Amino acid sequence: MITADLHCHSVASDGHLTPQELVARAEAAAVNYFAITDHDTVAGYMTVADGYVGPLKLVAGVELSSQFNGMSVHIVGLNVDVNSEAFKQHLASQAQSRMNRAQQIAEKLTRAGLHGVSEFIASLGDKPVSRPDIAQYLVASGQVGTVKQAFDKYLGAGKAGDVKQFWPDMTEAVQWIKDAGGVAVFAHPESYKITRTKLRKIIDAFVDAGGAAIELPHEPNSGDFWKYIGRLAAERELAGSVGSDFHTDQQPWRQIGRVPQLPNNLQPVWELF
Ligand code: AMP
Ligand code: MN
Ligand code: MN
Ligand code: MN
Repeated sequence: MITADLHCHSVASDGHLTPQELVARAEAAAVNYFAITDHDTVAGYMTVADGYVGPLKLVAGVELSSQFNGMSVHIVGLNVDVNSEAFKQHLASQAQSRMNRAQQIAEKLTRAGLHGVSEFIASLGDKPVSRPDIAQYLVASGQVGTVKQAFDKYLGAGKAGDVKQFWPDMTEAVQWIKDAGGVAVFAHPESYKITRTKLRKIIDAFVDAGGAAIELPHEPNSGDFWKYIGRLAAERELAGSVGSDFHTDQQPWRQIGRVPQLPNNLQPVWELF
């Protein structure tokens, strides 16, 4: 049986392990298809892809930040041509957006009574700043107790530090992936706290834009919702993708190679590569 883990993060974005460590984990878990999908960058993938000889089928991947009707939406791109000039430019513009967004988050958090965020961001230099970076700074500087509290109070959806207007429309993100010869995947449908009607509307727009696959939801939401996504995918002729969305060992329920089941009636996304 072919197995896959087509969604995880390295230190090139908000993951805790190096790309080399991720590859070692994937080899140990004996997955076939493996993709490192850092937020808005392929830098991590690039450090392991060149000259890789090993059992994995390494797939070029990325997780693009985008928005749909004012909501943050994540689109995974698989099997993209990382040498495409247009794609490289889009990623450069995402990196710039991340920098601009970080400044705006800092200003908003300062107005909310927090201190030192601008200085912290400046100290990171060229590293694309993510909200988990800022959350960790807030914990380290004693301004919140935990990363979870930082998101619940300041950084999560709808809070002062949730700034999404810099991101492209979801349809644009899908087009960038398609133009680079890749497959656009609707990531973690279980992560959006919205009604099924609204989710269906977003997935319809994703399909209309040329999106070709959807991730099956993870365990806490499996069962009924897993079946729902399987039905929706079949109805819209979407392929199925699976990924752990691994970031860190501090979330033991997300491990490399530990992915949801792919329903028998869905085409596996790797058949589109
Ligand atoms: P960003 O790409 O900078 O918008 O940061 C988004 C990332 O923050 C996600 O990919 C998750 O890894 C992380 N994240 C989102 N919500 C939470 C949360 N409630 N608690 C902890 N981490 C979160
Ligand atoms: Mn992340
Ligand atoms: Mn995501
Ligand atoms: Mn992710």
